[in-house]
Amino acid sequence: MNLDEIIKKLEHLNISSSELDIPEAKRLEMVNQAADYANTFINGLNKLKGFSDKEIGTLTIQNKKSALNEILNLYQKEVAESGINAASPKHLGYIPGGGIFTAALADFIAAVTNPFASVYYASPGAATIENEVVNWLKSIFSFPENSAGCLSSGGSISTLIAFTAARDKYKIKNEKIKKSVVYLSEQVHHSTQKALRIIGLEDVILRYIPIDNNHRIITNALIELIEKDKAKDLNPFLVVATAGTTDTGSIDPINKIADIAARYKLWFHIDAAYGGFFILTSKKNLLNGIEKADSLTIDPHKGLFLPYGVGAVLVKDAEAILHSNYYTANYMQDGYNEELLSSPTNLSPELTKHFRGLRVWLPLQIHGIEPFISCLEEKLLLVTYFRKKLAELGFCLGPDPDLSISYFWYPFETNTDEYNRRLMHEIHKNGSVFLSSSIIDKQFVIRIAILAFRTKKETIDEAIEMIKCCLRIVLEQLKNE
Ligand SMILES: *Cc1c(COP(=O)(O)O)cnc(C)c1O
Repeated sequence: MNLDEIIKKLEHLNISSSELDIPEAKRLEMVNQAADYANTFINGLNKLKGFSDKEIGTLTIQNKKSALNEILNLYQKEVAESGINAASPKHLGYIPGGGIFTAALADFIAAVTNPFASVYYASPGAATIENEVVNWLKSIFSFPENSAGCLSSGGSISTLIAFTAARDKYKIKNEKIKKSVVYLSEQVHHSTQKALRIIGLEDVILRYIPIDNNHRIITNALIELIEKDKAKDLNPFLVVATAGTTDTGSIDPINKIADIAARYKLWFHIDAAYGGFFILTSKKNLLNGIEKADSLTIDPHKGLFLPYGVGAVLVKDAEAILHSNYYTANYMQDGYNEELLSSPTNLSPELTKHFRGLRVWLPLQIHGIEPFISCLEEKLLLVTYFRKKLAELGFCLGPDPDLSISYFWYPFETNTDEYNRRLMHEIHKNGSVFLSSSIIDKQFVIRIAILAFRTKKETIDEAIEMIKCCLRIVLEQLKNE
C-alpha cells in the first residue's frame, strides 16, 4: 500500500471504528436510559419474587445493531427475572449481599476512566485507592502495618492466594507434598479443597477435625491429630478455621486454634468470607484473635453488600505473598523501580484487572461506615426474630447462631427428611422468598442466610407467611398418603 492508499483506507475505517466513541448527546441519552432502567429495577424489587425457575430465551450474539432500550428489555426478561434475584431483599439462601447502588456508580466511573490499577507507576491514584482499601481492612482486622494483601474477585481466589503464599513459604513441593498435612473441618467452604487442588496440593493429607454440636472445631481433637501425625513423621503445615461457616454461620474457636498453630508452627488461615465484617458489630468478641491468622479471606461482596466481584486477602508475612506473585519482564521495565508492595499486581496472580478498589472505596467515602454497621446489626437481629417466629409455628431450630445464618426443619411424624425435602420444594415453587437447603449431621435442613442489605422485618414476615403456607400443603399431602 502506498501512503495515499493508507490514508484513504484509514478514512474509510474511521467511519465504522468511530462508532465506538459515542458523542456526548448520545452518551447522555444512554446513561439516562440505563438510570431509568436501574430505577425501575430497584423500585420493582419488592414485587419480584426471590426466585424464578423460568426457562430463558435466546441471548446469542447476532452481530446486528440493537438499541440500548431493546437490550435492556431483553436483559430484564432473561437475566433480571430468572434464577435467584440476588439484588432482592428476598434472597435468603446461600450467602446473599445485594449490591449497593454507590458501588455500581463506582464501577461505572472505574470503567469510563479505566485506570491501570495493578501497577503503581501506571496509575498511582488508582493503586493508592486499592492499597488504602487493603489498609482499611488491615486496620479493622488489627493486622500489622507491615502485613500485605490484595483485592481479588472473591473469596475463592483470596483463599487460593493465601494458600499459595503458605505453600511457598513452607516449601511444600515435590515429595514433600504427600507427607504434608492440612487440618480443616468438614464445615469449610468447598473453595478450600478446590484451592488446594488448583495449586498442586491435591495430594496433601486432609485431616478433618471433629466438630462440636455448634459445628465448631474441637481444639483438643486438633492437637491429638497433629501429635499423631508428627509421631508418624508427617509434616503438619496448614490449619484452616472458618469465621462464619456457610452452612451454619459458626465461628471456630479462633484464639485456641491460633495458639495451637503457633505451638506447632503451622500456617493459620481463617476463612472469614461470610463472617468477617461482623467484627464491626456487637458480635466482635466472637472474632477475637482473628489478627493472629497468617492469612485471612474476606468478602466485601458479602458483608459490605457490594456487587459480586470483590474479595480480599490479607497475609501477615508480606515476603511470602510477594514471593509467590512477584514477577517482572522486560516490557515492564518502566515500572520496575517502584516500591514492590505499592503495586497490587505483585501480590496477586492478576496483572490487568478491573479497578475494583473503587467500588469499595467510593461507597465508604459517601456513606461512612455507620450505615454498614447498622445493616449488619439489623441482620443479626432479624435472624433472632425469624427463629422466634418459626419456633411459634412448631419448627425445630439449629443451635443459637453465632451470626445471621440459621437452619430449621419441621418435625413431621414420619420420614422427616423426605417431608422437609418436599417442604423445600414447595418453598422453591412458591419462590416469593428464596431459601436454600443443606445436609447437617446427615439430616436434611432448610437454611436461612440473612445478609442482603435490603432484607428488613417485612421480608422476614413474608418468609414466615410463605413457610406457613408451604407447610400447610405438605401436611395436607402427608394426611392423604
Ligand atoms: C462465599 C464463601 C466463600 C467463597 O467466596 P466467593 O466469593 O464465592 O468465591 C468461601 N468461604 C466462605 C465461608 C464463604 O461464605
